[in-house]
Amino acid sequence: MNVYDSERILESLDKKGFTETKNSDESDLIIFNTCHIREKAAEKLYSDIGRLKKQSNTKKIVVAGCVAQAEDSEIIRRMPDVDMVIGPQTYHKLPELVSKLDKNKKIIETDFPIENKFNLLARRKRIEKKPTAFLTIQEGCDKFCTFCVVPYTRGSEYSRTTAELIEEAKSLVDQGVVELTLLGQNVNAYHGESLTNSTSNLARLIYELSKISGIKRLRYTTNHPNDVDDELIYAHRDIEKLMPYMHLPIQSGSNKILKSMNRKHSVEKYIDIIDKIRSAKKGIAISSDFIVGFPGESDEDFNDTMELVRKIEFAQAFSFHYSPRPGTPSADYEGQIPQVTKSERLNLLQSLLKEQQFQFNNQFIGKTVNILIEKFGKEECHLVGKTPHLQSVFFEDTRKSYKIGEFIDIKINSMKVNNLSGELIESS
Ligand code: SAH
Ligand code: SF4
Repeated sequence: MNVYDSERILESLDKKGFTETKNSDESDLIIFNTCHIREKAAEKLYSDIGRLKKQSNTKKIVVAGCVAQAEDSEIIRRMPDVDMVIGPQTYHKLPELVSKLDKNKKIIETDFPIENKFNLLARRKRIEKKPTAFLTIQEGCDKFCTFCVVPYTRGSEYSRTTAELIEEAKSLVDQGVVELTLLGQNVNAYHGESLTNSTSNLARLIYELSKISGIKRLRYTTNHPNDVDDELIYAHRDIEKLMPYMHLPIQSGSNKILKSMNRKHSVEKYIDIIDKIRSAKKGIAISSDFIVGFPGESDEDFNDTMELVRKIEFAQAFSFHYSPRPGTPSADYEGQIPQVTKSERLNLLQSLLKEQQFQFNNQFIGKTVNILIEKFGKEECHLVGKTPHLQSVFFEDTRKSYKIGEFIDIKINSMKVNNLSGELIESS
């Protein structure tokens, strides 16, 4: 979501005459778009600003995103070189605020506004010219898992209307986009207004977007198990453009821990959903998020997580050690787990997940897969694309016959944990 937000920030400043530079030395304005989800992400901000400070003091520095929302004036107290702090719900105001920046005045903009930023952002004109794009359909969260800052930093759940999303999707297609990834903190809690003024859901939105002929692939992330409904499962069976991939975080394989996390579902329910989705869409890639070392997690609870992973067999997953976040209930729970135990458990979990990712990729050796070419590799004849199951594929196009944004069949002949390599099929 921060990638989406950063793109929109860049697009909005384009109108003010700013152009992007990858070199911080030559920039007049530096915007850090920050993540507050784990301590490591937040701390990185301070070390990055610290490094910049030494270079020059003529630049303006803006801190945007969720760290800005959560830490607000504290950021300027710790880092007096920062000129503006702006939360994730108000970045549409940036172009106007940037022109008000001056040496002696700091700007702090972290209120949750009544108006909606999406309605105020100008029509989308992309600066990035890629065949894939993110599209935020939903933001915020009302679930209040006991470890999570999202409900505090992004605010309560809000869904954009289907009409507005179709318009944005069409304008992306006009700019060469063929694959859309729908985004939200809980994208499957989507409940925006439908084209007939009733309340829609994610499956119906996907169906509407799939009617746009220029869109060839649709994806979505991230989900909550309690919001997976049968319609979404059947969408995977019925909508060809919907890619065979579902990211469904579970966090822990222990019912005791899930309860303490306030996840409001059991391990059994999760397994049930996965069974259903696998019977609706054979071979679908399932990925997940895990937190290890949540307060009170015993060896037995952790073993339950390992057991669940063995049972499901994930195509891919993200796993983190628990990070106590200020203001969240579990930060004050008893039974905080020592760092060394967290690390030991995370290592064990990650090697199991890696093994499963390897097994998942391994089944593609010798098979032909359709990929969307997304970028060049090290040299121009090396291309990189993605399979429907979201694996990266490297291949060589010595005759330079193919372009970014095209679909092509590739025969897979080797693999690593994180990617596949293959060759062109001459007839394709
Ligand atoms: N809405 C999604 C998750 C969004 S946050 C869901 O409910 O599953 C993305 C991921 O960050 C989470 O799935 C979780 O694994 C991780 N995460 C969130 N807060 C964390 C914390 N305090 N410590 C460690 N990982 C955390
Ligand atoms: Fe955070 Fe997801 Fe829980 Fe919402 S549902 S509080 S975003 S982990």
